[in-house]
Amino acid sequence: MHELGIVQSILEIIEEQLKIHEGERVVRVQLEFGAMTAVMPEAIEFAFQALTREGPVAGATLDIIILPIKGVCLDCGHQVELDSYTPFCPACVDGMLNIFQGKDEMRIVSIEIE
Ligand SMILES: [Zn+2]
Repeated sequence: MHELGIVQSILEIIEEQLKIHEGERVVRVQLEFGAMTAVMPEAIEFAFQALTREGPVAGATLDIIILPIKGVCLDCGHQVELDSYTPFCPACVDGMLNIFQGKDEMRIVSIEIE
């Protein structure tokens, strides 16, 4: 499962941060993914719960933000938000889109530590 590996590496970063800040437990974690990563929030949530049953991250609230796909047309300059990826501009039809958001983002936005 793709999501399990993602959560494992996220938890490594969280535990490192917990040590650095000498915190006792993690209260809330906010994650951000680009829509094109095809990461499933339910699967992330499930893996997170399964991997944090015990320890300093147990019971932490998980917020998952999926960034919509946004692009700008290299021909007409039209800015679009897409439900699913397409390389072509919906406005001028054959212009190529430069996708600037929602692509391969995968990051921890914030970690709340107590
Ligand atoms: Zn265009």
